[in-house]
Amino acid sequence: MKILKFGGKSLASGQAFDNVINIITDKANQGRIAIVVSAIGDTTDTLENILELAKTQQDYNTAFEAFKNRSYHQLADIKKELDVLSKLYEGVSLIEDYNLKIKDQVLAQGEVISSKILAKQLTDRGFKAVAVDSRQFFITDNNFGSAQANEELSKEKTQAYFKSLDQNTIAVVTGFIGSTEKGETVTLGRNGSNYSAALLANFTNADELQNYTHVDGIYTANPDWVKNAQKIEELHFDEANELANFGASILHAKTILPLVENNIPLRILNTLNPRSTGTLISGKQTIQGIKSLSVQSDVALIQFEGRGLLGIAGVDARIFTALANEEISVGVISQGSSERGIGFIVEAQDAELAAEALQKEFQNDFYTKDVNRISILKDIAVISIIGQDLSTFDKPYAALVKNKIVPILFNNTVTGKNVSLVVKKEEAKKALNVIHGQIFGIAKKINIAVFGHGLVGGTLIDQVLQSAESIAVKKNIALNIFAIGNSKKVLLSDNGITANWRDQLVSDSIPYTIKDVVDFANQNHLENLIAIDNTASGEFVKNYIPLVENGFDLISSNKIGNTISYDFYKQLRDTLKANHKEYLYETNVGAGLPLIDTIKLLHLSGENITKIKGVFSGSLSYIFNTYSVENRPFSAVLKEAIDKGFTEPDPREDLSGNDVGRKLLILARELDLQNEFEEINIQNLIPTDLQTIDTPTFLQSLEKLNPYFDKIKEGLKPNTVLRYVGELSGDLQKDKGILETKLVEVPTNSALGQLKGSDSLFEIYTESYGENPIIIQGAGAGASVTARGVFGDILRLADK
Ligand code: ASP
Ligand code: MG
Repeated sequence: MKILKFGGKSLASGQAFDNVINIITDKANQGRIAIVVSAIGDTTDTLENILELAKTQQDYNTAFEAFKNRSYHQLADIKKELDVLSKLYEGVSLIEDYNLKIKDQVLAQGEVISSKILAKQLTDRGFKAVAVDSRQFFITDNNFGSAQANEELSKEKTQAYFKSLDQNTIAVVTGFIGSTEKGETVTLGRNGSNYSAALLANFTNADELQNYTHVDGIYTANPDWVKNAQKIEELHFDEANELANFGASILHAKTILPLVENNIPLRILNTLNPRSTGTLISGKQTIQGIKSLSVQSDVALIQFEGRGLLGIAGVDARIFTALANEEISVGVISQGSSERGIGFIVEAQDAELAAEALQKEFQNDFYTKDVNRISILKDIAVISIIGQDLSTFDKPYAALVKNKIVPILFNNTVTGKNVSLVVKKEEAKKALNVIHGQIFGIAKKINIAVFGHGLVGGTLIDQVLQSAESIAVKKNIALNIFAIGNSKKVLLSDNGITANWRDQLVSDSIPYTIKDVVDFANQNHLENLIAIDNTASGEFVKNYIPLVENGFDLISSNKIGNTISYDFYKQLRDTLKANHKEYLYETNVGAGLPLIDTIKLLHLSGENITKIKGVFSGSLSYIFNTYSVENRPFSAVLKEAIDKGFTEPDPREDLSGNDVGRKLLILARELDLQNEFEEINIQNLIPTDLQTIDTPTFLQSLEKLNPYFDKIKEGLKPNTVLRYVGELSGDLQKDKGILETKLVEVPTNSALGQLKGSDSLFEIYTESYGENPIIIQGAGAGASVTARGVFGDILRLADK
């Protein structure tokens, strides 16, 4: 025989009810079945509410009438049950009180009504079915409200009943209720129908218990909290038991034990989705141990500190006895080997009582100062990773810390297959998602805030949106841009902006400070945060440290952060280290070329870099590559470069040499040199009188540059060309190096002399490579290569 149990929600709606009938029809054709039902929908709660109304002298009658008039109550003859309820309510309203015994009698009617309605529906459809009141065979103790079955007696009676029942008749048995030996009605505790079903399965030695719920089965985590939670196909009884301890009431030990005893498999199924295979729980070993996450949030942490109790025997026993006397059950327990204190979890509602009980028990020890503190920490949650082995716990743990979630305490069970973490309640959802993503290798979500949406920023956003799908497939990484800001306004979207972000920016962006972005990320539990600075702003750099302190990794194409004072440079690095965060800026020098990464690697591996020299600026590269070999005035070449968009809007930014100086400084600092920007020897190519005039006037006066450059060009030796180079030299093992940017002549056939277009070229001289430098060359400027470079930094961070 198979036992089918239907929960209250399965019977609540018309659709669900139809499904129940179909399922029963289907199963009844395959073999003998018996059914266990809960009360329909919210019946139990409603009956209890009416009871409260009656007790408190409120108008319980209206609510009771509404209950009686529910449409499904018209489907069967339940007059007897409604009369019982009516009398009980009336009595309670007269005496203005009730006890657990009365309450059980009231609540029990819900299940009786439910079984009658379902049995009637089945007989109406031509089945042989009978409503069976389980009070006739489930005999229990006197623990009203949460009774426990006397299994021997109940088994005997149940077997006798089923023996007498015609084989072809479907028994529709009430869940949740039983009776004492004296024949008084009891209930088996909320959700007790699961227990009833397990008992029935056990007593009748059923082949399987099929528990029809409103979910598809047991999940790797609550799908309401973790979007990509997955259904677990099979669980071992032991694993189910672990899950039960952490809130899966359907798997409560009380429910599982009767099944384990006779090795009866339990299948959790969905009434609303009869095709789903559900989750099977049995005595069969599952491969590789199943992992699942659960959260308990109605809990509090009690911390007990007693320095004077070091090594004294019996303290723990006193603690737990004091709690046991108040019937407070204790969850996660953590105690250091120093025995100076102990922390443990209780239900939130028990917290005060627990603290009081301990205060009382340890009153004397307070006087003697052996105990110094008993405190309650609320607003916490316990996350349990069931099936987690300590040997691989480092990964989820590291992912948590990387996301700035540091557990308040953690412990593992002695069997070593269950790790529990206590975290702040507000962090629980994020923590759950981080751990879940880590353990199940589910696409890691990277949440990105882009600041600056001009040429580089805008291109980057488009590139990310275009590649997101293929990156999700290839690398299992989900890129989510949740914020786009400029100096004034920001557009926020927790599920990520989409292709029409430019329009949205116009309609939906709002004035902001960086704190608003941080708060938004926190409120929406966003993990793996990256802030990208694509501005050219010195102002925005001030946000770097606050961002890092709030859990963001940083990426910038903006060079300013790395080239203002060395003090800031150092402070930022220290903050990054303290917060386990990264800062990538590959595009600061040579746009998308892998330059900084190469230098970092060489330096870290202990290779002595002795000199770095090269053409660092794409604009200056173009200008001098062209001017050196063409017979045109300098102003004409410059005008062309301006028109092609190779220069800054004011080309003096390039010709002043400051940009090259900045890049050089960034490389120098990469080698741990502590130079300041002011210490760079920069050759400014703008004659003094043209340095201070405004941009439009300057753009009108380009010819005035010609005499200066003509003279330089005339002085060139044969077979040489002009290049504007940056050079880092000196003893690079010291604190400071020599940084110079200058216009030089180089042989036409040298690497620098061969440079074409707007390419950049970097020569890295090292001790082991001697006179032959490592050369990195390629397009070193332009919005799209720069955006690609920034994208590369995103992927580098995402991989970590
Ligand atoms: N109807 C009872 C309750 O709601 C028992 C059950 O549903 O299992 O708790
Ligand atoms: Mg229920």
